[in-house]
Amino acid sequence: MKKEKEFPEQSQELPGSEHLMHPEPEIIRANYIGSKKLQDKVALITGGDSGIGRSVAVHYAKEGADVAIIYLSEDEDAKITKELVEKEGRKCLLLSGDLKEEAFCKQAVDDCYKTFGKINIVVNNAAVQFPQTNFEDVTSDQVHKTFETNIYPYFFIVQAALPHLKEGDCIVNTSSVTAYRGSEHLVDYASTKGAIVSYTRSLAKMLSDKKIRVNGVAPGPIWTPLIVASFDDISDFGKDTPMGRAGQPSEVGPAYVFLASEDSSYITGQFIHINGGEVVGA
Ligand code: NAD
Ligand code: MG
Repeated sequence: MKKEKEFPEQSQELPGSEHLMHPEPEIIRANYIGSKKLQDKVALITGGDSGIGRSVAVHYAKEGADVAIIYLSEDEDAKITKELVEKEGRKCLLLSGDLKEEAFCKQAVDDCYKTFGKINIVVNNAAVQFPQTNFEDVTSDQVHKTFETNIYPYFFIVQAALPHLKEGDCIVNTSSVTAYRGSEHLVDYASTKGAIVSYTRSLAKMLSDKKIRVNGVAPGPIWTPLIVASFDDISDFGKDTPMGRAGQPSEVGPAYVFLASEDSSYITGQFIHINGGEVVGA
């Protein structure tokens, strides 16, 4: 069983830095070949500095998109993501700030639009988690932080971006396997991830008239800074999946390409489960 870290103080809230992880996560497969699936699109990605968000940014760049990434304050990680995107010949706008603040969400969308003149893809992906063994230890401060970070910005960012989104544009959300099967140590976190599933299904219906698709990805254990920041003992991480290992961000990013591209034109309100084989409800 994993041993939890103490609930972090505000100043220590940040996940670890990606380049300090051993082994370093694989962001994109060395043999991944882009095929202009997102040529000249613009994507806004929350939590795009590291982990799954960084993988999405680099895959999108490989597929021909410019990206804007929102992150809390991990400037070092964000700079590396920007370099990786630029290596693909695409632009990367860095937007540092706190997604818990509605005004920042609006500002970030504005800055993205002003820089690129359009927004075609919104990827909601930033999140925090604070594992607790006892439910009594889930403080009200923690509940607020988890919900305000993990689900509120899904409303604020999309509300600000919607006036710019047109037919064929789309939204991709990040839920979790914990939404579908629960998690005894992450009750508040799993609750926000369940909310993201319902949000996705509802918004998909609401925006279908505008021909804007809304889908999501529900990852299982993926090797990212969030994991290192959350758990003291990570030796068994992912071992309890049918495949017996954790996944890499490089195994998640391609699903975000699929859901953002025309290849998924008849799919909305759905989730792709990237979890090493655990069978969960739709
Ligand atoms: P990560 O730590 O690399 O990415 C999360 C990012 O969210 C951080 O880099 C941070 O910049 C950003 N963030 C957090 N709070 C913020 C705030 N208040 N304002 C602005 N940005 C903020 O971790 P990751 O594992 O890549 O997580 C990405 C998504 O994947 C999350 O939604 C997470 O819940 C989900 N997920 C991860 C796993 C896993 O095993 N890694 C499993 C299931 C779901
Ligand atoms: Mg990070």
